[in-house]
Amino acid sequence: MAFYSQSPVAIAPPFHSSSSSYSSGPSLGSHGSKPRGHRVCDTCGAIETAQTGRFRLCGGCMITQYCSPECQKNNWPQHKILCRHTAEQMTASKQHATAVGPSSEFPDPNLAKNLRKFTSAHADLIGWTAFQALQLKRMPINIRQYALQVNLQFRPSNDSASRFTVASVQLVPKSILNDADPVVSEDVSRREERCRRAGGIGVAVVLLQCGLVSQVMPVEVDPPAKIAWDARDDWEQVFRMYTEAGRTDFTAPISRRR
Ligand SMILES: [Zn+2]
Ligand SMILES: [Zn+2]
Repeated sequence: MAFYSQSPVAIAPPFHSSSSSYSSGPSLGSHGSKPRGHRVCDTCGAIETAQTGRFRLCGGCMITQYCSPECQKNNWPQHKILCRHTAEQMTASKQHATAVGPSSEFPDPNLAKNLRKFTSAHADLIGWTAFQALQLKRMPINIRQYALQVNLQFRPSNDSASRFTVASVQLVPKSILNDADPVVSEDVSRREERCRRAGGIGVAVVLLQCGLVSQVMPVEVDPPAKIAWDARDDWEQVFRMYTEAGRTDFTAPISRRR
């Protein structure tokens, strides 16, 4: 059962800033404020910044994001299939969990919802982790062949950022997404095309799995030459450290050479 998180991180302009903080726009003067997530409008590909204001969520799936009511309206004919698919899966998961009771497959009745919240809370961290795990700085071609799979363990907590811990991480063939969920896979392809048209290298796919529930997070990636991140070999430790502690203050370290 796969869910699609479109709380994607765009590895795109906000990260190109040469300063150590990638969030504050010159007009805002929000020194010290917490960086916002870099949401992407599903229709036009615009990236949420301090200047654009907060993007809106689709009320059907509570996942897909838009920069404006116009973009939301224009995208509906394409989005409605995925939107209903997502909503149906959420309901099915809850019904199954309620009927069967807690098990290793469904350790929590709100597993799907909690996984979505966890993914959203750690979106920046997960995006950076995917970039490192796929070695996109050195091998951008990897984005076409591999996906990052994260196996999670449920951990009861009041804090949505702390409800899972990382059991293991591995690279898997990107093609498994198509077998697992063709509707989601098709939407990833659509994003991929749009991202490449805009000069990016494509969409890095992260599969977050807990029991029988999984969540897909697409990460749209700009050309590595434009990304101010160094390749890091300790990405798994960093990823585990932040998720273990439930910390959502992750800020990708930017290359000191810039
Ligand atoms: Zn838009
Ligand atoms: Zn929707």
